[in-house]
Amino acid sequence: MRSQKSHPLWVGTSWKMNKTLAEADRFIDELLTFPIPNGIQPFVLPPHTALARLRDRLPADSPILLGAQNAHWAAEGSWTGEISMRMAKDAGATLIEIGHSDRRQHFGETDRTVALKVAAAVAHGLTPLICVGEPLAVRSVGGAEDFVRVQLQNALSEMAPAAIGQVIIAYEPIWAIGEHGNPASVDQVAGVMALINEVVAAAGSSAWAVLYGGSVETENAARLLSDPNTHGLFVGRAAWEASGFIELLKLCARLAGAGAEAATTSSPILPWTATAALH
Ligand code: PEP
Repeated sequence: MRSQKSHPLWVGTSWKMNKTLAEADRFIDELLTFPIPNGIQPFVLPPHTALARLRDRLPADSPILLGAQNAHWAAEGSWTGEISMRMAKDAGATLIEIGHSDRRQHFGETDRTVALKVAAAVAHGLTPLICVGEPLAVRSVGGAEDFVRVQLQNALSEMAPAAIGQVIIAYEPIWAIGEHGNPASVDQVAGVMALINEVVAAAGSSAWAVLYGGSVETENAARLLSDPNTHGLFVGRAAWEASGFIELLKLCARLAGAGAEAATTSSPILPWTATAALH
Protein backbone atom coordinates (compact mmCIF):
# COMPACT_ATOMS: atom_id res chain seq x y z
CA MET A 1 0.00 0.00 0.00
CA ARG A 2 1.24 3.49 -0.74
CA SER A 3 1.83 5.77 2.17
CA GLN A 4 -0.66 8.55 2.60
CA LYS A 5 2.20 11.02 2.76
CA SER A 6 3.05 10.74 -0.90
CA HIS A 7 -0.21 9.45 -2.39
CA PRO A 8 -3.81 9.40 -1.32
CA LEU A 9 -5.60 6.09 -1.05
CA TRP A 10 -8.38 6.17 -3.64
CA VAL A 11 -11.79 4.80 -2.74
CA GLY A 12 -14.61 5.27 -5.19
CA THR A 13 -17.89 3.87 -6.32
CA SER A 14 -19.87 3.74 -9.55
CA TRP A 15 -23.59 3.59 -9.03
CA LYS A 16 -24.02 2.04 -12.49
CA MET A 17 -27.72 2.30 -13.51
CA ASN A 18 -29.03 2.95 -10.03
CA LYS A 19 -30.59 5.79 -8.03
CA THR A 20 -33.26 8.34 -8.70
CA LEU A 21 -32.55 11.94 -7.75
CA ALA A 22 -34.23 11.42 -4.38
CA GLU A 23 -32.06 8.36 -3.75
CA ALA A 24 -28.97 10.27 -4.83
CA ASP A 25 -29.87 13.05 -2.41
CA ARG A 26 -30.21 10.59 0.47
CA PHE A 27 -26.82 9.05 -0.32
CA ILE A 28 -24.99 12.34 -0.49
CA ASP A 29 -26.71 13.78 2.58
CA GLU A 30 -25.58 10.78 4.61
CA LEU A 31 -22.08 10.84 3.12
CA LEU A 32 -21.75 14.50 4.02
CA THR A 33 -22.22 13.67 7.70
CA PHE A 34 -18.86 11.86 7.56
CA PRO A 35 -15.73 14.03 7.65
CA ILE A 36 -13.41 12.71 4.96
CA PRO A 37 -10.15 11.64 6.62
CA ASN A 38 -6.79 12.89 5.46
CA GLY A 39 -4.99 10.62 3.05
CA ILE A 40 -8.17 9.36 1.40
CA GLN A 41 -9.40 10.42 -2.03
CA PRO A 42 -13.07 9.48 -2.37
CA PHE A 43 -14.98 9.61 -5.64
CA VAL A 44 -18.53 8.90 -6.77
CA LEU A 45 -19.66 8.14 -10.32
CA PRO A 46 -23.44 8.58 -10.44
CA PRO A 47 -25.56 8.08 -13.55
CA HIS A 48 -25.54 11.14 -15.83
CA THR A 49 -28.96 12.19 -14.52
CA ALA A 50 -27.61 12.76 -11.01
CA LEU A 51 -24.23 14.31 -11.82
CA ALA A 52 -25.22 17.98 -11.72
CA ARG A 53 -27.44 17.29 -8.74
CA LEU A 54 -24.53 15.92 -6.72
CA ARG A 55 -22.28 18.75 -7.83
CA ASP A 56 -24.86 21.22 -6.56
CA ARG A 57 -25.26 19.41 -3.24
CA LEU A 58 -21.57 19.02 -2.48
CA PRO A 59 -20.01 21.97 -0.69
CA ALA A 60 -17.62 23.85 -2.97
CA ASP A 61 -14.71 22.77 -0.77
CA SER A 62 -15.65 19.08 -0.65
CA PRO A 63 -12.77 16.67 -1.31
CA ILE A 64 -15.18 14.19 -2.92
CA LEU A 65 -14.61 13.94 -6.67
CA LEU A 66 -17.45 13.27 -9.08
CA GLY A 67 -17.28 11.54 -12.40
CA ALA A 68 -19.33 10.15 -15.27
CA GLN A 69 -19.56 6.47 -16.15
CA ASN A 70 -19.01 7.09 -19.85
CA ALA A 71 -18.78 9.91 -22.37
CA HIS A 72 -18.28 10.11 -26.13
CA TRP A 73 -15.01 11.07 -27.78
CA ALA A 74 -16.61 13.58 -30.19
CA ALA A 75 -16.91 17.16 -29.00
CA GLU A 76 -20.53 17.41 -30.12
CA GLY A 77 -22.84 16.24 -32.85
CA SER A 78 -25.38 13.68 -33.92
CA TRP A 79 -24.66 10.94 -31.40
CA THR A 80 -28.10 10.17 -30.04
CA GLY A 81 -28.11 9.00 -26.44
CA GLU A 82 -24.53 10.02 -25.74
CA ILE A 83 -22.98 12.89 -23.83
CA SER A 84 -19.69 14.57 -24.64
CA MET A 85 -16.68 15.06 -22.37
CA ARG A 86 -17.48 18.76 -22.31
CA MET A 87 -21.04 18.10 -21.18
CA ALA A 88 -19.86 15.71 -18.46
CA LYS A 89 -17.39 18.31 -17.23
CA ASP A 90 -20.06 20.99 -17.30
CA ALA A 91 -22.29 18.76 -15.16
CA GLY A 92 -19.61 18.36 -12.51
CA ALA A 93 -17.38 15.49 -13.64
CA THR A 94 -13.68 15.46 -12.87
CA LEU A 95 -13.28 11.77 -13.69
CA ILE A 96 -14.55 9.82 -16.70
CA GLU A 97 -14.88 6.07 -16.39
CA ILE A 98 -13.93 4.48 -19.72
CA GLY A 99 -14.12 0.88 -20.86
CA HIS A 100 -16.03 -0.81 -18.06
CA SER A 101 -16.71 -4.42 -19.00
CA ASP A 102 -20.47 -3.71 -19.05
CA ARG A 103 -19.85 -1.22 -21.82
CA ARG A 104 -17.48 -3.53 -23.67
CA GLN A 105 -19.91 -6.45 -23.39
CA HIS A 106 -23.27 -4.75 -23.99
CA PHE A 107 -22.64 -1.44 -25.76
CA GLY A 108 -20.02 -2.15 -28.38
CA GLU A 109 -17.09 -0.52 -26.58
CA THR A 110 -13.83 -1.63 -28.15
CA ASP A 111 -10.16 -1.00 -27.45
CA ARG A 112 -10.32 1.58 -30.25
CA THR A 113 -13.26 3.53 -28.80
CA VAL A 114 -11.64 3.34 -25.37
CA ALA A 115 -8.47 4.91 -26.79
CA LEU A 116 -10.45 7.69 -28.47
CA LYS A 117 -12.36 8.41 -25.28
CA VAL A 118 -9.20 8.43 -23.14
CA ALA A 119 -7.59 10.99 -25.45
CA ALA A 120 -10.77 13.08 -25.57
CA ALA A 121 -11.06 13.09 -21.78
CA VAL A 122 -7.51 14.34 -21.38
CA ALA A 123 -8.02 16.97 -24.08
CA HIS A 124 -10.95 18.31 -22.05
CA GLY A 125 -9.04 18.39 -18.78
CA LEU A 126 -10.79 15.33 -17.39
CA THR A 127 -9.14 12.37 -15.72
CA PRO A 128 -9.81 9.08 -17.50
CA LEU A 129 -10.49 6.14 -15.21
CA ILE A 130 -9.67 3.30 -17.58
CA CYS A 131 -11.13 -0.12 -16.78
CA VAL A 132 -9.28 -3.23 -17.91
CA GLY A 133 -9.77 -6.87 -17.02
CA GLU A 134 -9.92 -10.33 -18.47
CA PRO A 135 -12.82 -12.82 -18.69
CA LEU A 136 -12.69 -16.10 -16.81
CA ALA A 137 -11.89 -18.13 -19.92
CA VAL A 138 -8.72 -16.10 -20.43
CA ARG A 139 -7.70 -16.30 -16.77
CA SER A 140 -8.29 -20.09 -16.80
CA VAL A 141 -5.64 -20.62 -19.45
CA GLY A 142 -3.11 -18.30 -17.84
CA GLY A 143 -3.67 -15.42 -20.25
CA ALA A 144 -4.68 -12.67 -17.84
CA GLU A 145 -1.49 -10.62 -17.99
CA ASP A 146 -1.19 -10.72 -21.79
CA PHE A 147 -4.85 -9.80 -22.16
CA VAL A 148 -4.62 -6.82 -19.82
CA ARG A 149 -1.32 -5.70 -21.37
CA VAL A 150 -2.93 -5.45 -24.81
CA GLN A 151 -6.06 -3.73 -23.47
CA LEU A 152 -3.98 -1.17 -21.65
CA GLN A 153 -1.48 -0.51 -24.43
CA ASN A 154 -4.40 0.07 -26.79
CA ALA A 155 -6.18 2.33 -24.29
CA LEU A 156 -3.11 4.56 -24.02
CA SER A 157 -2.30 4.48 -27.72
CA GLU A 158 -3.82 7.87 -28.61
CA MET A 159 -2.21 9.74 -25.73
CA ALA A 160 0.99 11.70 -25.50
CA PRO A 161 3.35 9.96 -23.02
CA ALA A 162 3.39 13.13 -20.93
CA ALA A 163 -0.35 12.80 -20.32
CA ILE A 164 -0.17 9.24 -19.05
CA GLY A 165 0.58 10.47 -15.55
CA GLN A 166 -2.95 11.81 -15.47
CA VAL A 167 -4.81 8.56 -15.97
CA ILE A 168 -6.24 6.28 -13.35
CA ILE A 169 -6.42 2.60 -14.20
CA ALA A 170 -8.81 0.15 -12.60
CA TYR A 171 -8.07 -3.54 -12.91
CA GLU A 172 -11.44 -5.24 -12.79
CA PRO A 173 -11.27 -8.94 -13.68
CA ILE A 174 -14.64 -9.71 -15.24
CA TRP A 175 -14.97 -12.93 -13.26
CA ALA A 176 -14.74 -10.96 -10.01
CA ILE A 177 -17.33 -8.28 -10.80
CA GLY A 178 -20.96 -8.12 -9.80
CA GLU A 179 -23.37 -10.40 -7.98
CA HIS A 180 -22.19 -13.49 -9.87
CA GLY A 181 -18.53 -12.60 -9.44
CA ASN A 182 -16.04 -14.54 -7.34
CA PRO A 183 -14.01 -12.17 -5.19
CA ALA A 184 -10.36 -12.18 -6.24
CA SER A 185 -7.56 -12.95 -3.81
CA VAL A 186 -4.56 -10.70 -3.58
CA ASP A 187 -2.45 -13.49 -5.09
CA GLN A 188 -4.71 -13.56 -8.12
CA VAL A 189 -4.42 -9.84 -8.77
CA ALA A 190 -0.86 -9.01 -7.70
CA GLY A 191 0.79 -10.05 -10.97
CA VAL A 192 -1.62 -8.00 -13.05
CA MET A 193 -1.29 -4.95 -10.81
CA ALA A 194 2.49 -5.12 -11.20
CA LEU A 195 2.11 -5.57 -14.95
CA ILE A 196 -0.14 -2.49 -15.21
CA ASN A 197 2.43 -0.36 -13.46
CA GLU A 198 5.12 -1.75 -15.80
CA VAL A 199 3.11 -1.10 -18.96
CA VAL A 200 2.43 2.47 -17.94
CA ALA A 201 6.08 3.02 -17.05
CA ALA A 202 7.13 1.62 -20.43
CA ALA A 203 4.73 4.06 -22.10
CA GLY A 204 6.70 6.89 -20.59
CA SER A 205 5.17 7.76 -17.24
CA SER A 206 3.59 6.35 -14.11
CA ALA A 207 -0.18 6.29 -13.73
CA TRP A 208 -1.72 8.67 -11.29
CA ALA A 209 -3.23 5.67 -9.52
CA VAL A 210 -3.90 1.99 -10.19
CA LEU A 211 -7.03 0.68 -8.49
CA TYR A 212 -8.50 -2.76 -8.00
CA GLY A 213 -12.24 -3.38 -8.52
CA GLY A 214 -14.47 -6.45 -8.32
CA SER A 215 -16.51 -7.60 -5.31
CA VAL A 216 -14.61 -5.34 -2.93
CA GLU A 217 -16.13 -5.17 0.55
CA THR A 218 -14.93 -4.37 4.04
CA GLU A 219 -14.03 -8.02 4.56
CA ASN A 220 -11.45 -8.19 1.72
CA ALA A 221 -10.39 -4.54 1.31
CA ALA A 222 -7.38 -4.70 3.60
CA ARG A 223 -6.02 -7.83 1.92
CA LEU A 224 -6.41 -6.31 -1.54
CA LEU A 225 -4.70 -3.11 -0.46
CA SER A 226 -1.77 -5.03 0.96
CA ASP A 227 -0.51 -5.34 -2.61
CA PRO A 228 2.16 -2.64 -3.09
CA ASN A 229 1.00 -1.84 -6.63
CA THR A 230 -2.61 -1.18 -5.61
CA HIS A 231 -3.31 2.45 -4.85
CA GLY A 232 -6.99 2.21 -4.08
CA LEU A 233 -10.31 0.48 -4.59
CA PHE A 234 -13.10 0.86 -7.09
CA VAL A 235 -16.30 -0.44 -5.59
CA GLY A 236 -19.77 -1.27 -6.86
CA ARG A 237 -22.42 -2.92 -4.70
CA ALA A 238 -20.70 -2.63 -1.34
CA ALA A 239 -20.74 1.17 -1.59
CA TRP A 240 -24.16 1.80 -3.08
CA GLU A 241 -25.52 2.58 0.37
CA ALA A 242 -23.79 5.58 1.91
CA SER A 243 -23.28 3.59 5.10
CA GLY A 244 -21.31 0.95 3.18
CA PHE A 245 -19.20 3.58 1.46
CA ILE A 246 -18.48 5.26 4.79
CA GLU A 247 -17.42 1.95 6.33
CA LEU A 248 -14.95 1.45 3.48
CA LEU A 249 -13.66 5.00 3.82
CA LYS A 250 -13.13 4.47 7.55
CA LEU A 251 -11.32 1.21 6.97
CA CYS A 252 -9.09 2.73 4.29
CA ALA A 253 -8.33 5.68 6.53
CA ARG A 254 -7.14 3.29 9.22
CA LEU A 255 -5.03 1.41 6.68
CA ALA A 256 -3.54 4.61 5.36
CA GLY A 257 -2.78 5.70 8.88
CA ALA A 258 -4.90 8.78 8.49
CA GLY A 259 -6.85 8.25 11.70
CA ALA A 260 -10.12 10.04 12.17
CA GLU A 261 -8.77 13.50 11.54
CA ALA A 262 -10.77 15.24 8.86
CA ALA A 263 -9.09 16.66 5.79
CA THR A 264 -7.99 20.18 6.50
CA THR A 265 -7.51 21.02 2.87
CA SER A 266 -10.49 20.50 0.68
CA SER A 267 -8.61 20.62 -2.60
CA PRO A 268 -8.45 17.21 -4.20
CA ILE A 269 -5.04 16.34 -5.55
CA LEU A 270 -5.58 17.01 -9.22
CA PRO A 271 -2.80 16.85 -11.78
CA TRP A 272 -4.59 19.38 -13.96
CA THR A 273 -3.63 22.24 -11.74
CA ALA A 274 -0.05 21.73 -12.84
CA THR A 275 -0.67 20.71 -16.44
CA ALA A 276 -3.11 23.17 -17.91
CA ALA A 277 -1.05 23.20 -21.11
CA LEU A 278 -2.71 19.99 -22.18
CA HIS A 279 -6.04 21.70 -22.78
C1 PEP B 1 -17.80 -3.06 -11.07
O1 PEP B 1 -18.73 -3.51 -11.71
O2 PEP B 1 -17.01 -2.27 -11.58
C2 PEP B 1 -17.65 -3.44 -9.67
C3 PEP B 1 -16.50 -3.18 -9.08
O3 PEP B 1 -18.72 -4.01 -9.08
P1 PEP B 1 -18.82 -4.81 -7.72
O4 PEP B 1 -17.97 -4.14 -6.69
O5 PEP B 1 -20.26 -4.80 -7.36
O6 PEP B 1 -18.30 -6.20 -8.02
